Amino acid sequence: PKYVYRFSEGDKDQKDLLGGKGANLAEMTRLGLPVPPGFTITTDACRAYLADGAVPEELSVQVTTALREVESELGRELGAAADPLLVSVRSGAKFSMPGMMETVLNIGLNDASVVGLGTVSGNERFAWDSYRRLIQMFGKTVLDVDGEHFSAALEAKKADRGVSLDYELDVTALSELVEEFKAIVREHAGIEFPQDPRDQLDMATEAVFRSWNTERAHIYRRREKIPHDLGTAVNVCTMVFGNMGETSGTGVCFTRDPSTGRSGVYGDYLVNAQGEDVVAGIRNTLSLADLERLDPTSYEELRGLMRRLETHYHDLCDIEFTIERGKLWLLQTRVGKRTAAAAFRVAMQLVDEKLITMDEALTRVTGEQLNQLMFPQFTDGGERDLLTRALPASPGAAVGYVAFDNAEAVSRTEAGEPVILVRRETNPDDLPGMVAAVGVLTARGGKTSHAAVVARGMGKTCVCGADALEVDAAARTVRVAGRDVVLTSETMIAIDGQSGEVFLGEVPVADSPVTTYLRQGLEEALKQAEDEDTRELVTSVDRLMRHADAVRRLAVRANADTPEDALHALHRGAQGVGLCRTEHMFLGERKQFVQNLILAQSENEREAALSALLPLQKGDFVQMLETMDGKPMTIRLIDPPLHEFLPDLTELSVKVAVDRERGTLDPADEELLAVVRRQHEANPMLGLRGARLLLTQPGLIELQVRAIAEAAVERLKVGGSPQPEIMIPLIGSVRELQIARERAEAVLAEVAADSGQVLDFPIGCMIELPRAAVSADTIAEEADFFSFGTNDLTQTTWGFSRDDVEGTFFKEYMDEGVFGVSPFETLDERGVGRVVELGVERGRQTKPELKMGVCGEHGGDPESIEFFHRVGLNYVSCSPFRVPVARLEAGRAAV
Ligand code: ADP
Ligand code: MG
Ligand code: MG
Repeated sequence: PKYVYRFSEGDKDQKDLLGGKGANLAEMTRLGLPVPPGFTITTDACRAYLADGAVPEELSVQVTTALREVESELGRELGAAADPLLVSVRSGAKFSMPGMMETVLNIGLNDASVVGLGTVSGNERFAWDSYRRLIQMFGKTVLDVDGEHFSAALEAKKADRGVSLDYELDVTALSELVEEFKAIVREHAGIEFPQDPRDQLDMATEAVFRSWNTERAHIYRRREKIPHDLGTAVNVCTMVFGNMGETSGTGVCFTRDPSTGRSGVYGDYLVNAQGEDVVAGIRNTLSLADLERLDPTSYEELRGLMRRLETHYHDLCDIEFTIERGKLWLLQTRVGKRTAAAAFRVAMQLVDEKLITMDEALTRVTGEQLNQLMFPQFTDGGERDLLTRALPASPGAAVGYVAFDNAEAVSRTEAGEPVILVRRETNPDDLPGMVAAVGVLTARGGKTSHAAVVARGMGKTCVCGADALEVDAAARTVRVAGRDVVLTSETMIAIDGQSGEVFLGEVPVADSPVTTYLRQGLEEALKQAEDEDTRELVTSVDRLMRHADAVRRLAVRANADTPEDALHALHRGAQGVGLCRTEHMFLGERKQFVQNLILAQSENEREAALSALLPLQKGDFVQMLETMDGKPMTIRLIDPPLHEFLPDLTELSVKVAVDRERGTLDPADEELLAVVRRQHEANPMLGLRGARLLLTQPGLIELQVRAIAEAAVERLKVGGSPQPEIMIPLIGSVRELQIARERAEAVLAEVAADSGQVLDFPIGCMIELPRAAVSADTIAEEADFFSFGTNDLTQTTWGFSRDDVEGTFFKEYMDEGVFGVSPFETLDERGVGRVVELGVERGRQTKPELKMGVCGEHGGDPESIEFFHRVGLNYVSCSPFRVPVARLEAGRAAV
């Protein structure tokens, strides 16, 4: 197989093979942009390596060829003693995984070539600095030596020379440091630092392959739902040098602000620096405006390239560049990660600039981003103790206790305490703590620092570069410049990811502007908006939501059991209720009537229990139907087993035993215990519930249908337009539905006759057993609609009960790749999805126009919504707060 591609051979659509970084390096090369020459080793090679534990022989051969081509193009040889070619070895998977994989710079330097590099560059200091960086990075990432050893040696050297910054070390100091670094490698890795350039290259390549399987790569992929079997590509790229002096430097820029979405370029730049220095937040950075002053020519060229790339990719681009003695090089580009707010604003800016269509704009935002915009924010006014103001790196409002490291953040979060991870700066090792914490605060680093990039990717509130804070992780204290306070693990702080403010103590939070928009409309949201950014944001959300509503084929309903829930749903744009559960109508003080019903010995007693329940349930339905007036409302008749309304078996047994002992036993309790025992089920989920209960418990279905019918009559009398749809749960056979329908229709007819109203409400069923889906063609004969109950359908298709499995072996199953995400979160398309498809297909064989929807958690899950759209359902029903997300996702599915 072809394992190696020159940058000039690939293009941006080959991300599977070349990884994101490699594909985009190829694309830029193809466009003729200034990219240093190089080549990409494919993800195939990585997978082959991981499978066999060894580098495929063809790979070594192909690397030689590609390397020689680069060498002859540049007229330099890798690691040659005079004028050496140096390369970087960079990982790059299909999906960008910030900080997950290691990059090794300056490969090719050794005791001989360092001298040559010093001579040709006329800068000996630079050559030795590059060499010590190579040994440091190589030692850490390739040879697994603890990075602390190197940093400690570096710090000691600076102290010894009485300087405070890395670049103040002179040639002698640096060459001493190189020897010390080599000794560290010898001691901790047990080998000599490899002097052979090709060995360096091969070892680094293998290390990149191996890094695919590190713990933190696994954590990140799990979180981002990235499959574990993709592998990473490796990019070998000719080195250019940002650390050659004052006319050199390295930077990161964005074609628009990835944090707010403001139009206009944005970036960080560091003079006389290499590689990771910018993102590591080691020194505070300059802005692009500063670069314009320092080097107007390079700045102009960069601006032109940014515009070119944005036009080419039709999207916000994130670009890494280096200036070597006034010459600009591009080292990476990709469509930039951005905050939710930026996603909506940028999408609409691009539409207005006629770079993309409205349909495309919809694909640039996600339901999850919309969800993030609905997060609450800090309220204005009131007493607040502002500690400092730093860079707003990722929006949101987070309140929590200070946590100093991963262990603390994770354990306190598990104990239910909100924490904010506070670090001097973060690096990839801090990932578990960042995942756990509600927010991240760093003392150093710009908006493109590790903390900022990763937090934005996770939708986690982050404030960075708070240099007023002096974080001492070892002492577990934070000192605040100019303030007489010391923050400890006991301190509650609040960080504002929009303003960059850090407060001492708790700060109250309020609705976000987008929530105001969703609930009260655009006009009100604009009126309440505090600034232009917010106005542009809500306007962008409004335009995109309108477009989604216009193009989507799926209707969106809500699961709502109470008038309050129904109202929440309506305010967020729900077109009906897809699931109104009726079990709560049997709870509270009504439990007693249910008990009476179960215990009834005679027809009379049962009648009495039923008639006590009737007015109560009717009252509930009147309210719900009033709230949902003019909109469909699917009412599911009682689903859970009746014993859920009885006392707990164990508790009651104990009580009876104790009372008997004391001679205070109430015979009624003894009787009740006998009933509870009789009704006890080993497997309630598969027991006497749903249709089975409705058909066999005399009077139950009649009670519920009568309550619905009489409530509807009441609404009709006052000029309302009730649209109840009666739904029978847990149907397995058409005969069940037939019986239920006959009994329900009899009641409807009776109430209709008594009231003189027409009551021809649809009667349908849930499809939540595989048998129902398989025999959907016959069930459809008796059904006016189907609603796929995908929670139960997942349980019954897999044969596991959610309550029993989610907390136990699911995590292992996900780690082992049995499934990527919980099938209760995202519909398992290959299994449960096929059952749904079958149900749709067979149901429509019988009734081509049969209305079908889905209720259950999956109705609000983006990926599942896309699937429901594809199989041709008519609506999804989800929790009221997910309704906007579902509207947007249904729109996205349709374009
Ligand atoms: P990441 O995936 O973490 O962004 P990169 O492979 O892009 O890692 O490398 C990190 C940084 O190292 C780059 O931003 C760039 O500044 C520097 N770098 C990588 N390759 C080179 C090179 N060939 N010449 C100069 N700098 C490089
Ligand atoms: Mg990079
Ligand atoms: Mg169910």
